[in-house]
Amino acid sequence: MTTRPDLSWLPPGLGTRPVDLRRGLPIPAVNVHPDGAVDFISINSEKAVELAVTGRCALCARRMGGPVAFLGGPKAAEAGFYSDPPMHEECAEAALTLCPHIARPHVRRASERRREHDATHAVGFSDEKPSEWVLLVCDGYGSTLAPAVDGGVVPIFVVGDVLRVRRFGYQEGALAEITEE
Ligand SMILES: [Zn+2]
Repeated sequence: MTTRPDLSWLPPGLGTRPVDLRRGLPIPAVNVHPDGAVDFISINSEKAVELAVTGRCALCARRMGGPVAFLGGPKAAEAGFYSDPPMHEECAEAALTLCPHIARPHVRRASERRREHDATHAVGFSDEKPSEWVLLVCDGYGSTLAPAVDGGVVPIFVVGDVLRVRRFGYQEGALAEITEE
């Protein structure tokens, strides 16, 4: 018998997502592929664009009113371009805790070993795990297409005016927010 994990602390949108019982994780909207398969590693780019264009969160698929958040490494934050679409700040915070790739320092992205879906990424975008995660809160966003490493194009999301930048680093094997004096 499988016990449903306690996810009662999740933000309301994520709390209503279907749960992957094997991993005990809510399934982000952007990780559901057209064939219905769930892949926590690669995003469904059509879905990513659809969610972003309709102003909905990449993780919980509910509407985002007001500021939005992007989650990635310092390079993406500096450049203001992301391959992952925008999300609610509280959903991004939950992802920092829940996503095994993010939450623990030594978990390598499974895409380094295998790819279930043909994930490609934009030229100049690293697929490597950053040493630090940046949660960037901004007042809006746009989207465009960028050349991909496989010769095609992939959507990328462009950050609007930045309101806040929160940084998270690994301390003693766990991810913690870096607070500045
Ligand atoms: Zn959300």
